Amino acid sequence: MAISLDQCRQMPKVDLHLHLEGAISAECLCEIAKRNGLEREVPSVAGAGSLMRFSTPKEFFRQFLFVSGFIRTAADLGAVTDDLLRRLTEENVLYAEITLAPRKFIRAGIPYPALLSELERAADQSRQCGGTEVRYIMDMVRNLGPDRGMELLDLMEQHPSRWVVGVGLGGGEGYPPELSVVPFRRAGKMGLHRTVHAGEGAGPPSIWGTLERLNAERIDHGTRAGEDPKLVEYLAEHRIPLNMCLTSNLALGVVSSLAEHPAWKYCQAGIPVTLGTDDPSFFGSTLSQECFLLAQVFDLSMEDLQRIQRNAVGAAFLDKEEKAELRDRLERGFEGLCCGEEEPQRHKDTKA
Ligand SMILES: [Zn+2]
Repeated sequence: MAISLDQCRQMPKVDLHLHLEGAISAECLCEIAKRNGLEREVPSVAGAGSLMRFSTPKEFFRQFLFVSGFIRTAADLGAVTDDLLRRLTEENVLYAEITLAPRKFIRAGIPYPALLSELERAADQSRQCGGTEVRYIMDMVRNLGPDRGMELLDLMEQHPSRWVVGVGLGGGEGYPPELSVVPFRRAGKMGLHRTVHAGEGAGPPSIWGTLERLNAERIDHGTRAGEDPKLVEYLAEHRIPLNMCLTSNLALGVVSSLAEHPAWKYCQAGIPVTLGTDDPSFFGSTLSQECFLLAQVFDLSMEDLQRIQRNAVGAAFLDKEEKAELRDRLERGFEGLCCGEEEPQRHKDTKA
């Protein structure tokens, strides 16, 4: 029997590829704009939604930055994070690693310690309320160059946080991974985990460079890995996770149809594939929908979708005990689904 969207919503899930700036809801954007006296630019929820529409990748990047620009204070950032965590909790996402690029917020006048303190408060609050468990990944953004990456690491070193587990590298793949060798080496020495966007805008050399020069533990996207069969073999042999995003790849033209998306093919080849939402507000998606689409297009079973969630636990930037605990919660959730038990009452409002 075909899997329903509702079944995907009920299934406990893990999202490792999710950008805070791309996950601002239209309602939250509207609220923040009002608070900052910018209601003329965002007069309504519908108006906020229209700011997240785009027709080309270039337009997407422009609107992504434009929307991020409405976050002016640490409290705004906290509100955006609370709102996202509330939605993730409602959707039964047990664990998420949220990526954000702090530089633009710091430039807008939010000091790093204030930014961090809001992220920590939101994470702690969500946990206290039985909501989504979260960790953060700080994106160096490849377009900004290695010096800005080093500045970010200075701040992360001065203000360590148990909630911030790694660094990421997003932005245009026209800036090859080799440019970020120095900050990534330092991040490794600082004990930070490393995940890199590659194989989305550029082909296999971008992924090879990421693995060989940046010592990345995970690849975000990796969609184009299949252009080099040796790379697919390498990723499978070394169990390197690919955090893949179907709707994002379709919306930005990385694949021309979902039937062509290689996520399930890579999974069958032995690569630990996970599913993420990337920028859900811009792509009009949720993790449940991503699971539903994959199941629908490739005629998958619940067991197949559960395998992908298990992959995500294995790929999470958590320590051994935390991973074991998450795995336990995930398996208990799966058992509940199989036996038709009702989901335990989850806290729906973490706003307090
Ligand atoms: Zn991404």
